[in-house]
Amino acid sequence: MVPVSSSALTIHHHDMVIVGAGGAGMMAALAASKAGFSVACLSKVFPTSSHTVAAQGGINAALGNMGEDDWRWHMYDTVRGSDWLGDQDAIEYMCRNAARAIANLENIGVAFSRLPSGKLYQRIYGGQSTHFGKGELAYRAISAADRTGHAILHALYGQAVKHQTQFFTEYFALDLIMREDKSVAGVLAWNMAEGTLHVFYAQMVILASGGYSQVYQTNTSSSICTGDGNAMCLRAGIPLQDMEFVQFHPTGIYDSGFLITEAARAEGGYLINSEGERFMQRYAPTYGDLASRDVVARAMATEIAEGRGVGPDKNHLYLCLQHLSAAAIHEKLPTVFETASAFAAVDASKSPIPVSPSAHYTMGGIPTNYRSEVTTNDGTIPGLMAIGEAACVSVHGANRLGCNSLLDLMVFAEGAIQHASSFIKAGVKTDSKPSTITPLLDRFNQIRQGKGNLNAGTMKSSMQRTMQQYAGVFRNRHVLEEGDARLNRLWAELPELAVQDTSLLWNQQLLEVLEMHNLLVQSRVTLYAALAREESRGAHFRQDFPTRNDAEWLCHSLTTMDRHGALSSATRPVRMQPLSKDIEPILPEMRQY
Ligand SMILES: Cc1cc2nc3c(=O)[nH]c(=O)nc-3n(C[C@H](O)[C@H](O)[C@H](O)COP(=O)(O)OP(=O)(O)OC[C@H]3O[C@@H](n4cnc5c(N)ncnc54)[C@H](O)[C@@H]3O)c2cc1C
Repeated sequence: MVPVSSSALTIHHHDMVIVGAGGAGMMAALAASKAGFSVACLSKVFPTSSHTVAAQGGINAALGNMGEDDWRWHMYDTVRGSDWLGDQDAIEYMCRNAARAIANLENIGVAFSRLPSGKLYQRIYGGQSTHFGKGELAYRAISAADRTGHAILHALYGQAVKHQTQFFTEYFALDLIMREDKSVAGVLAWNMAEGTLHVFYAQMVILASGGYSQVYQTNTSSSICTGDGNAMCLRAGIPLQDMEFVQFHPTGIYDSGFLITEAARAEGGYLINSEGERFMQRYAPTYGDLASRDVVARAMATEIAEGRGVGPDKNHLYLCLQHLSAAAIHEKLPTVFETASAFAAVDASKSPIPVSPSAHYTMGGIPTNYRSEVTTNDGTIPGLMAIGEAACVSVHGANRLGCNSLLDLMVFAEGAIQHASSFIKAGVKTDSKPSTITPLLDRFNQIRQGKGNLNAGTMKSSMQRTMQQYAGVFRNRHVLEEGDARLNRLWAELPELAVQDTSLLWNQQLLEVLEMHNLLVQSRVTLYAALAREESRGAHFRQDFPTRNDAEWLCHSLTTMDRHGALSSATRPVRMQPLSKDIEPILPEMRQY
């Protein structure tokens, strides 16, 4: 194998480099291109194959089209949903900009579902209410049937092409190029289709590389959700925030994990156990099946643990839609019908769908402020922003509400570009010393030389099983420590991963090894942070510390990795102060549904 030398690098200069062409990356690319910046948007898959295309149920905004609503109530629900770990300045920013974000999407051609009156249709969704939790459930989620992500991503792509965003498709971003003063100069990337390496210098690098749910065996995410941007930050010495918080969606199809959107319950579906009981009424008397996702997932895990699961092994539950008319299912939930048919061999209009909780969304990620600047306890990192599921703003805190992710993507992507426009000037070239790239190339060449006898696919399965078993819905010190020990063994074996294919052209084996490195480091950080947080909050439930402990743990966790792979943790306070005086801080209270 001939190592790639620095003389073989192709150098690009742009005003902004965006890693990711999902909803977040594409929105940012469009906004930046419209503002006259030269933008390079890198994606390891064709842009419209990004994971956002799979988003189903909707996007929240307090439009009040089907009942009264107010952005302040949306904010209250989001803070409560986050179990008070969300930063209230960022949450205010998101909720009060939601209506504008929807108007923007409509203007670029997203075909949302409508009421006969012509107004946008809105559906109820888990954990969302009116009158600060005291009123009825809120009709807040705007959707395009149950194909909302598809509608948004395709409209954004068409617009980005129109506004001359430069896409670098099937480019795999490897690492951040860091200057000695800890500012970010650009990104090193591998063009998989041509087998070449590229340096992208820019005044601003924006990471929009998505979440990392692929660390779990049963997950609802596409295989590209490997959190590469998160891992790039860890390698650059930047901590990740709140990685202990992983959302398990209540209704993954049993065994395969494919998502049955919460919209199915919003449209009248409900869960039953082996006794035919609608058990959610016991756990959440007011919200029932539409309680917050962490609450429903835990209730399901409890039903299964207590022997009321269905199937030969009593290890899943049923989601019932058969009482809805076939016409309603086909009109409002066509993807649910198709998914149930394809992956559970069930006609959802006639039989219940077998479901169990499935890893769905990663609340943790790259720490940012509400302007999307990457910010640690040492201050803001010049030249680096993060948006979308890769970022931890944090609007979702310890648990994300359904339909708040697509909103987060749109609002913070646009906000990031607005903010960057205030200090970036189009056409100013930047670069860095060659010595900043040498260690990144060395790492890449070393991984390519993998002469061991281990296979990335086998190691990935082993890691996923470990995470599923030892870092799932219920956690305690004993199981977390066992999981940690198993991951550390895998970590020690990483250098043994084999790369027999020496070519750089479509080297699938090399791609899998690179992703495996990224996944494993995030698994380790997730377990490490879960062990450290000795309380239960949102999606993180510790059987040995079953209550929330605001006195000691109303704070974000920050986990850093040194260059030898050793992890260390710190905390930072939750920002409890909203941005404006239009709403008072929402103070912690008991979370009830
Ligand atoms: C099945 C499903 C349904 C959902 N439904 C909803 C919903 O109805 N409403 C809602 O609000 N949320 C929903 N979510 C959550 C939401 O879809 C995601 O959180 C969101 O789409 C993430 O968008 P993103 O832009 O951050 O990342 P993604 O869409 O995951 O895009 C990541 C981008 O980064 C690129 N990338 C990654 N690594 C690299 C690399 N190394 N080099 C180059 N490029 C790279 C990828 O190619 C891709 O373009 C759903 C999630 C799932 C799993």
